[in-house]
Amino acid sequence: MNADLERVIALQRLDTAADAARKKLADEPDREKALDARLDAARQHVAAAKDHLVQNQAARREIEKELALHQGRLSKFREQAMAVKTNQEYHAIQHEIAHAQTAIKGHEDKMLERMLEADELTAAVKKAEADLAAEQKAIDADRKSMKAEHGDLQAQLERIASERAAIVAALDKHVLATFELVSRKRNGVAVAEAKDGICTICHVRLRPQVFNTVRRNEQIVQCDSCQRILFFVPAPAVTQATTT
Ligand SMILES: [Zn+2]
Repeated sequence: MNADLERVIALQRLDTAADAARKKLADEPDREKALDARLDAARQHVAAAKDHLVQNQAARREIEKELALHQGRLSKFREQAMAVKTNQEYHAIQHEIAHAQTAIKGHEDKMLERMLEADELTAAVKKAEADLAAEQKAIDADRKSMKAEHGDLQAQLERIASERAAIVAALDKHVLATFELVSRKRNGVAVAEAKDGICTICHVRLRPQVFNTVRRNEQIVQCDSCQRILFFVPAPAVTQATTT
């Protein structure tokens, strides 16, 4: 293969790898934000669960107050019942007593419901807190691996830069200029494989004599359509299994 063609292929491989590394680095702030959002969500679940429990406690205190009120009335009626003079008064006070007892029963039922609810809400708080702890741990691990990846990407970019410099130094200046120009125009991809008579990136069919030249990999040939520098990958030699 033509040495410069080999160099531009290597250059392209490095540029593509550098692009991918830079994209990953550029994605880091968004990934950080996503981790922050996950942590916030878990914290909000805990806050909401605690809030529900606080509301339940407030409701129970309200019911307790009401209950005490009705119990006070009931004992007042019972005292009055002992002092009644007429049958009519007796029936009236019995009616009040029954009414207060119903109210007390109703509030006791409500209290029981709220107490059962409190058990569920307490369990929900514990679950949310455990979830938060697990999420915190997972996020810490993610941050740690992101930090390690950041270092790897930086090191990779430095390695690529020095490999690139060495190739650029050896490359013919005109070929380099062509490579850089096409790379700028074509979104960082200046080299394309030609396969079955077609440029595999722009998918335009090459003229037969152009494809024939490309097949030999001995010259710098550009695609007529996208201007990318073309190369050809020969089919791997088929090794036939011999049976004896
Ligand atoms: Zn093309």
